[in-house]
Amino acid sequence: MNTNLYREAQRYLVGGVNSPVRSFKMVNLPPLFAKKAKGKYLYDYEGNKYTDYCLSWGAIILGHNHPIPKKELHKALQKGTSFGFCHLYETRLARLIQQAFPSMEKMRFVNSGTEAVMSAIRVARGFTKRKFIVKFDGCYHGHSDSLLVKSGSGLSEIKESSSEGVPTEVISQTLSLPFNNTEKLTEIFKKHGKEIACVILEPIPANMGVILPHETFLFTIEKLCKEYETLLIFDEVITGFRVALGGAQELFGIQPDLTILGKIIGGGLPIGCFGGKEEIMKHLAPEGNVYQAGTLSGNPLSMRAGFSVLHFLLRYPSIYTSMRELLKDFQKEWQRKKLPYTLSVFSTMFSVFYTSKEVDNFHDAQQQDIQAFQKIYKKLLENGILFPPSCFEGCFLSMKHKAKDLEKIIEIFCDNVKNIL
Ligand SMILES: *Cc1c(COP(=O)(O)O)cnc(C)c1O
Repeated sequence: MNTNLYREAQRYLVGGVNSPVRSFKMVNLPPLFAKKAKGKYLYDYEGNKYTDYCLSWGAIILGHNHPIPKKELHKALQKGTSFGFCHLYETRLARLIQQAFPSMEKMRFVNSGTEAVMSAIRVARGFTKRKFIVKFDGCYHGHSDSLLVKSGSGLSEIKESSSEGVPTEVISQTLSLPFNNTEKLTEIFKKHGKEIACVILEPIPANMGVILPHETFLFTIEKLCKEYETLLIFDEVITGFRVALGGAQELFGIQPDLTILGKIIGGGLPIGCFGGKEEIMKHLAPEGNVYQAGTLSGNPLSMRAGFSVLHFLLRYPSIYTSMRELLKDFQKEWQRKKLPYTLSVFSTMFSVFYTSKEVDNFHDAQQQDIQAFQKIYKKLLENGILFPPSCFEGCFLSMKHKAKDLEKIIEIFCDNVKNIL
């Protein structure tokens, strides 16, 4: 960890970082400065090489600096970096996305997941002419005002804001409920159903650690939304092209009204996308009166990097099978070793919860032993394993990870948990 680079960064950048998750505050370490990354490895300025399970927060699935997006970006650079006008690759990327996400009849590209969520909610409110939105504690949907509600605190479903600078009035139309809790949800719908514009969720939450959704919970959401004509929004910024080509909606056979994508679809460049039923999306400007715009939206570099990666994924879907198999074996081995922490696995993502109990929602995730996490985190780093520096974030595989990489994680846990417990 290079404290000099950090000190220099702090002179100009707030906290030395451009996103608080990079601060390593939770593990009491200075932030990591990446020098370069290739395949499953990320290198720092001290000459350390880490096997990366953060993968730009799930955005990298082919492995870092893969020749496919790299070649495409080289070509794109010959033509210009931003046009401010329409170009072919917007259509091409959209076509590929629709192949995997048929529920996205019409879509729009933006520059981040945050932006996509914010605009999708505006469309949902414009379409339904209703004001309430329902979200779930611990699900992350970016940092727009109306979604920054404090999770897991307070008994009422209307919560305090989790950030200063967001007046209570701004979040007074946001209801936040515990994930996987069908009763609470049904209750809210009985009370407010006809005023709820949309329910937004990460169908497989990965921002409070990876949480497995109860099928009955997802199907109840779907049913209630239909019954009350509330729009169902799946935030698949992580799960899209990650848990399967068609995301959680493909796996659960649920057709949300609107879908949010980001991360993987940009091939490592900034992107966000929202889309869904045509009758809803047509309310967006210029066809309708819900305003939304973006100077760099549909940027040719993001479009082409994303296009090349999705093209590869659609052509070689077997990479998902291989990654899933690796994690299945990892899970078996974890159980065989009787490690005292809960390992949660879904498809190509996983997380360790530093508790022996099952973790079903944000409240459960908060019961983790943070000190144990901090100690193990350092051991992992010392052994060249890079997890996200928070026990509320998911870990991801790329197609470059191998069985022996995962075996090494088990080894480190086995060697250290006894000392730590
Ligand atoms: C990362 C993420 C976002 C926000 O995307 P940004 O590009 O960081 O703004 C939204 N929703 C989910 C589920 C995410 O994981």
